[in-house]
Amino acid sequence: MGVRVRLGNKILELVTGDITEQDTEAIVNAANERLIPGGGVDGAIHRKGGPSIAEEARKIGRCPTGQAVVTGAGRLKARYVIHAVGPIYRDGRSGEADLLASAYREALKRARELGLKSVAFPSLSTGAYGYPLEEAAPVALGTILSFLKENEYPQLVRMVLWGEKAYEAYRHALAELVKREGLAMEEF
Ligand code: ADP
Repeated sequence: MGVRVRLGNKILELVTGDITEQDTEAIVNAANERLIPGGGVDGAIHRKGGPSIAEEARKIGRCPTGQAVVTGAGRLKARYVIHAVGPIYRDGRSGEADLLASAYREALKRARELGLKSVAFPSLSTGAYGYPLEEAAPVALGTILSFLKENEYPQLVRMVLWGEKAYEAYRHALAELVKREGLAMEEF
């Protein structure tokens, strides 16, 4: 159950759920620059996926804020984990929106490079990194929608929101975006 927007053969959808349970070809991790297992989404992915993810990440080393790198997904259903590093929120006037947009765009580029059809994202930066959901949602969705318009892959992007509050913030932002762009939003 959720909402979706179609752009030709491409789909952006919002659901509530757990990112570690997704059967998309890749899931995105809300990682930190040192790629060291932390809490939140990151902790859940490493716990459920097993140690191979952290081992691969250690070989990569670091990932600057606004960038994204790829590892395998260990025991998870997905084939890949795309580790994207969103910004730590300060006051909203320190380049946070550009860095957040970049983290989504770079993760989508990694999916495109791998020729993936489907990828699932958590709401980057809105947990430990303190980005207000209402501010993060339009940045995230606007970035994803532009990418889907301009690229063949991925074809399905699923935002997996943890709880009703996050879901409602994203649903509201998507409704606004859809209105502006003259698109239609469907429930499923
Ligand atoms: P960040 O450090 O980028 O803020 P967090 O992992 O702390 O990342 O939180 C990012 C968002 O993911 C938050 O909105 C949080 O509620 C949500 N979240 C936490 N656990 C999960 C999960 N298992 N699946 C999907 N989203 C989750």
